[in-house]
Amino acid sequence: MAYSEEAQKYAESVLEFRREVNAQKTVKIREEINVKCEGFTDLEVFRRNLNLQKMRATLLNDTEKIDELNSEIQKISNEIDSVLQKYGFSTKDLAEQYTCNICKDTGILRDGSQCKCKISLMKSYELNKIQNVSPLSLSSFDTFDLNLYSKEKKNGISVYEVMKDNYNECLSFANHFPNANNLLLMGKTGIGKTHLALSIANCLLNEGYEVIYCSCSNILQVIDSERSANKYSPTLNSIKRCDLFILDDLGSEYINSYYNAILYDIINSRLSENKATIITSNIDDASKIQARYGDKITSRIIGCFRILPCLGDDLRLRHLR
Ligand SMILES: [Zn+2]
Repeated sequence: MAYSEEAQKYAESVLEFRREVNAQKTVKIREEINVKCEGFTDLEVFRRNLNLQKMRATLLNDTEKIDELNSEIQKISNEIDSVLQKYGFSTKDLAEQYTCNICKDTGILRDGSQCKCKISLMKSYELNKIQNVSPLSLSSFDTFDLNLYSKEKKNGISVYEVMKDNYNECLSFANHFPNANNLLLMGKTGIGKTHLALSIANCLLNEGYEVIYCSCSNILQVIDSERSANKYSPTLNSIKRCDLFILDDLGSEYINSYYNAILYDIINSRLSENKATIITSNIDDASKIQARYGDKITSRIIGCFRILPCLGDDLRLRHLR
């Protein structure tokens, strides 16, 4: 598959972002180690000196000295290891941090070919573009404003509290991925469900996972038209195989038995492969899922998805008031 210039640019900008974030991470861990690990800095200076001496000895071809220095360096390294461990760090923390250790977040391999992390970014871009998605980078946990939700309590709980729980649940999903439950975000249109789902997508894309996000009605049409053209749908295949699939706005599509079968195929294949799926839906009641999609889909969703009921006023209308 050839990738468009926009996909290349998108992948490169994500890689650049990763390099920046990881460089900051490297510096931060380093500073933390210097502050917390008593004795570490001295030991490191000592090891650096030994390495310099070893370099000299190597130039002079002094094998006896080299052996001697090697065993000293080993001793100091062991000491450094135990100091780090004592304070909850490891030798790995001293190394530069990368999202992709294969290409060190450059996207390019030694032989000049593109790393699979860059290819998966471009693939996500192309697939998501097909579904006319607003740029994934626009939504993040940082821009999710919980203060937009009412703190007024009804029946002992406020909309704010409910949405705060949902926010934390989604954050935890992103932090524990791929060990994460499937999620169903249920509730009216315009109350932040898609924002939460896209925030997860954003986090995972930055960690190098392949994420596909699309609206339910678009995806069914795309799969349908691909299948009627040549019986095989590459989009369906990608959806089944990606690390995280986000099906947005279940319930807004036109449904018939053929589309219903595609939906079941997607949900069921991903469940049996243990791959995480997030569904957002404007349907606000499980019994309505049953009425609309029947037993097979309902039992898969109710049995295998963590349901997050979302509440609130339409946030998109708020600024008009
Ligand atoms: Zn890579």
